[in-house]
Amino acid sequence: MILATSNLHKVGEMRELLPGIDLQPLPESYESPVEDGDTFEANALIKARAAHAALGGVALADDSGIESFDLGGAPGIYSARYAGEGASDEENLDKLLREVDASGGERRAAYVCVLAMIDGDGTEHVFEANCEGRLLRERRGAGGFGYDPIFVPDDTNDERTMSELSADEKNAISHRGRAARLLAAHLSD
Ligand code: IMP
Repeated sequence: MILATSNLHKVGEMRELLPGIDLQPLPESYESPVEDGDTFEANALIKARAAHAALGGVALADDSGIESFDLGGAPGIYSARYAGEGASDEENLDKLLREVDASGGERRAAYVCVLAMIDGDGTEHVFEANCEGRLLRERRGAGGFGYDPIFVPDDTNDERTMSELSADEKNAISHRGRAARLLAAHLSD
């Protein structure tokens, strides 16, 4: 199965989440499509369809991000570039903190992940999952990436941020872990 991402970190993470599935990264010569969908699902499908069309076989793609309930779902599909094209994780997180602080809201948020898989015969499957929690006012912890240092998931029933969880603990509750398990259940059917 081709994993339609040029992010080797994601290939490693998905291999951990889907043991027993031979996940291959995209070839270096591959030209990624423009992700101009307006939902996570649309963007995941754009990436999976393009890989399937170019390389044949089974293609898998993911699209993910964080939605602040105080900000009407922002940054959503723009999570990776919230503070502008090419912005760092730090800059994106700073912007989210500023906006949520200014909103004076309840600081509730959810991570969302959509996995899109195209079978060899072109049949499309979509698996979506989320992970709800709340946003702290300051960063805590060193693990994970992106918005993890300010996100406290509901599922652990303690005050640790995603950055303070082990990889196994994060995988057990995360949006990506949950979506991967939906996919794995479908494949084993
Ligand atoms: P993409 O799915 O590669 O387009 O990236 C989505 C963006 O959402 C990432 O760059 C992060 O900013 C954010 N994001 C998605 N999943 C996570 C996560 O598990 N932790 C922290 N940030 C995440």
